[in-house]
Amino acid sequence: MNGIDGLLGGCRAEVRAVLERALSGERVSWQDGVVLCGARGRDLHALALTADVLREQQAGERVAYVVNRNINFTNVCVKSCRFCAFSRTNRSAEVYYLEVEEVVRRAVEAREMGATEVCVQAGLPPNPRQDLYLELLRALRAAVPDVHVHAFSPEEVKYGAEVSGTPIPEYLQQLKDEGLGSIPGTSAEILDDAVRKRLAGGRITTAEWIEVITGAHRIGLPTTSTIMYGHVESDAERMRHLDLLRSIQEDTGGFTEFVPLSFVHTEAPLYMKGMLPDVRPGPTGDDVVRLIAISRLMLGPSVKNIQTSWVKEGLKQAQWLLSCGANDLGGTLINESISTSAGATHGQLTSPAMLRRAIRDAGRIPVERNTRYEPLHVFDHAAQEDPPHPLDGVLDAEERFGSYDRLTAAARAEKRERVQLRRVN
Ligand code: SF4
Repeated sequence: MNGIDGLLGGCRAEVRAVLERALSGERVSWQDGVVLCGARGRDLHALALTADVLREQQAGERVAYVVNRNINFTNVCVKSCRFCAFSRTNRSAEVYYLEVEEVVRRAVEAREMGATEVCVQAGLPPNPRQDLYLELLRALRAAVPDVHVHAFSPEEVKYGAEVSGTPIPEYLQQLKDEGLGSIPGTSAEILDDAVRKRLAGGRITTAEWIEVITGAHRIGLPTTSTIMYGHVESDAERMRHLDLLRSIQEDTGGFTEFVPLSFVHTEAPLYMKGMLPDVRPGPTGDDVVRLIAISRLMLGPSVKNIQTSWVKEGLKQAQWLLSCGANDLGGTLINESISTSAGATHGQLTSPAMLRRAIRDAGRIPVERNTRYEPLHVFDHAAQEDPPHPLDGVLDAEERFGSYDRLTAAARAEKRERVQLRRVN
């Protein structure tokens, strides 16, 4: 016995049976996925290697990334999801709001720095202008028509539709007509209403999330798909989530990629305030490997691109995950607020050169792609021949592009000033 047979020979029988079925192209059920959730030690090595073999068959040797910028234009939100450390109520001294002109300025600056995508997501501001999201799209299209706008989570789409009194399918069409290019499949967490209720009362329901996502797919708006895991969900709830995403993809074909998002607990109210006794402090390193590898086995045949997030995992673990089923490193981001506010410590910009270095060192071929996964530049030559990129020279992203901490600090300072002025007057 040698090669992968030899490796599988060291596995427990039930894990081996699932891995063999996956390697022979059989469908991995969510119940099979639950068996794989028990993979530890050598079982985990075998699972990761199986996922890597399937990754090679399904996605090849290229690893892609997109040069993009996140613009989280406000942290004020009418909801208070228990896992969210980013949002503030409008009574908070830390509320910031970037006006349309500032959103556009950031998008123009991103394009000048080589970005092909802006990712626009935010809190749900109270009493917004009825056409806030449409207005943002119009302004972005006028200023940067060649930049792909990847924007508005299903929760925001639902909110925008409600505020404007428009049914969701029509609202999606309006967003598309104004220049929306694709939608982030965030606000999914775990698509199970009992879990969602525990994480965040009032969160968009599973059925509503599906309505927004499939409605987008139906009119030709692609979306990503995500999971946020490592909090209160069970293995079965995780695996049923993957199974649901797979069934949507088989129906619509509208997911560009799957992005597993580790729960970052450090500043999350759910964890810090002990809101749920059984909440876990995010996944462990092995748990991250398991989920990426199982995603490749379950989703890979229909969602070819499995992304690993350097923001959540750090570039070092993200690089290792490229050998455990992943084939995408996500974006450069330039600004990152959601994970940073929750306590992630991996920064807000990873330059194209750093992404390519990690990819090459994993023995793979770096590719800069656009949001729709079309290759823009294949780096199948030596690193010394890479053309310079404007982002490669940025040594201090916070100083150069601002940050979430600076925005909230400025809001605090402004509020202090207003209070002092009131006292003086
Ligand atoms: S997750 Fe989104 S909707 Fe929920 S509180 Fe945070 S910003 Fe608001």
